[in-house]
Amino acid sequence: LKHLSKPLDELKADYDVVVIGSGYGGGVSAARLSALGKRVAVIERGKEFLPGDYPDSFDAMRREFQVSGAKLKLGSRASLFDLRLGRDMHVLVGCGLGGGSLINAGVALRPDARVFANTAWPEEISSDGLLQEGFERATHMLRPTPYGGAAELVKYRALEEASKPFDVEPRPTPTTIAFDAGANAAGVAQDACTLCGDCLSGCNVGAKTTVAATYLSLAAANGTEIFTQGSARYVTRQDGRWSVAVCETPETGARTEVSERTVIADVVILAAGTLGSTEILMRSREHGLALSKRLGDRFSSNGDIIAFGYGAKGRVNAIGVGHPPKAETDPIGPCVAGQLDFRDGDELNNSLVMQEGTVPSGLASLLPALLLPGGKILDAAKSLLSSVYKGPLASLHAFFLAGHDSSNGRLELENDAMVVDWPEITNQPVYRRADEILAEALGARGGSHLQNPFESRITGKKPVTAHPLGGCAMGQDADQGVVNHKGQVFDATSDGDGSAVHDGLYVCDGAAIPRSLGANPLLTISSLAERAMILLARDRGWASDDGAPRAREKRKAEATL
Ligand SMILES: Cc1cc2nc3c(=O)[nH]c(=O)nc-3n(C[C@H](O)[C@H](O)[C@H](O)COP(=O)(O)OP(=O)(O)OC[C@H]3O[C@@H](n4cnc5c(N)ncnc54)[C@H](O)[C@@H]3O)c2cc1C
Ligand code: SF4
Repeated sequence: LKHLSKPLDELKADYDVVVIGSGYGGGVSAARLSALGKRVAVIERGKEFLPGDYPDSFDAMRREFQVSGAKLKLGSRASLFDLRLGRDMHVLVGCGLGGGSLINAGVALRPDARVFANTAWPEEISSDGLLQEGFERATHMLRPTPYGGAAELVKYRALEEASKPFDVEPRPTPTTIAFDAGANAAGVAQDACTLCGDCLSGCNVGAKTTVAATYLSLAAANGTEIFTQGSARYVTRQDGRWSVAVCETPETGARTEVSERTVIADVVILAAGTLGSTEILMRSREHGLALSKRLGDRFSSNGDIIAFGYGAKGRVNAIGVGHPPKAETDPIGPCVAGQLDFRDGDELNNSLVMQEGTVPSGLASLLPALLLPGGKILDAAKSLLSSVYKGPLASLHAFFLAGHDSSNGRLELENDAMVVDWPEITNQPVYRRADEILAEALGARGGSHLQNPFESRITGKKPVTAHPLGGCAMGQDADQGVVNHKGQVFDATSDGDGSAVHDGLYVCDGAAIPRSLGANPLLTISSLAERAMILLARDRGWASDDGAPRAREKRKAEATL
């Protein structure tokens, strides 16, 4: 994997397309539009990481942590792990070139078809066949693959035991990980996964098929200029084009951002993630942009829950060893190797998926202390003595769940911070259902559910999601949504039927998703972005219906390869 980014000082004044943010939505947009010969710039607030750069000790992870809320800002604003404190719920997102793909488990699932048939979506999504095309393109690029040896992993066998009380068979989970070395779909060489289990703190092997290793590498090969440590503040319309105000990402928690500069483009794609894109549009509204009153609505946590189980009989091996390995153990496996799919054929919103997971090795030394509030002082002490890989913590279970919620949380800008306002979040039925399943699953292993191990003075007992969705949700018109099915931002000034849009302004990321998916979101976000880029290219006459660049653009595209 090559270094892809340039310093912000080299940002030019003018591009055809500016993409803000470099996660799944941003990566897809930059790759597809640069392939049409467009002059594209990507601006990412975080840093670039190459395999070997990711934090793998507690100290290094702490240095890569930022926490912010309306009243507090800690750590560098460019740190990799970004915890946003809300009023009722907290959100964890990735910050760096590649967005969430740097620190996620790479689980790539297609949601139940009933999700897209729901009235929360504009009807074109389920009717025009382009979402299917989007899924095919994203699957081709990201190559989700289950680990072939999953059934031999200790943690997978523990999941089999945990599944006994249910009528559900464990299945290996498809993840965007290279289990064999070789070139990926973007032609980038990746090493084979060493089964170290550290996916959530970043893959130091280079086996994780991140956005940087795929879409962004392709975009760079097509001539896209990629800039890191630049934060977009807001957009304004100027002489029929878009102006984006950008500042250097502040090193500290300073509230006043420095070195504001502007860049002009015909097309701006907001792909700064659910919180980032909503935040930029809220600031843009303060600078005069007419937007739907729905901005900030339809926030969903995707029923995302991280749970731990303690005291089970027998080892689980749910703690990563890192690369190079910090301990001699049986292979740990990819962070997620297997899952139980609790699909409810009658009631979609009752469906959920539960995956077994691993804690990255950098957090291993913290785990004994996390058990202290549970009163397990003796066990914690034993773990410290015999290392977390051998003592009681070897039987720690970690589970990730994704389900459905009412998707009616609200994002608000308070003191320049995005906060989740959702007083009734803990009453969502998904939490009760998850608790029941966890109690039975862990009971079958002789263990019990550890409530709120990460509770602290700063976070309190509030739930945390790593799957934030919505805020700039799609809708049929400006009364119902912030963007249309193509990701075009509705223009709320016009008197027409609510379908008018701001020409050339798009949201292409998790923010545009109008409801919970009940499955890990990366594949849907990528597929919707693929779909939006097909439509954008057609609408602007940049590509024909089969996606081929128009002749002039094709010549330019070939010249940049
Ligand atoms: C620990 C963890 C584990 C996860 N595991 C999975 C999983 O296994 N499977 C799955 O499907 N999903 C998983 N997710 C969720 C998934 O990674 C996200 O849903 C996905 O990354 C969102 O994609 P996106 O394009 O919407 O935004 P992001 O990937 O969040 O990208 C947005 C980018 O924009 C940048 N940005 C933000 N604001 C600005 C600004 N003002 N200017 C410039 N840049 C900006 C951010 O730094 C970021 O790089 C996980 C998430 C976490 C945190
Ligand atoms: S298990 Fe280790 S090597 Fe494999 S993808 Fe995850 S971090 Fe990389």
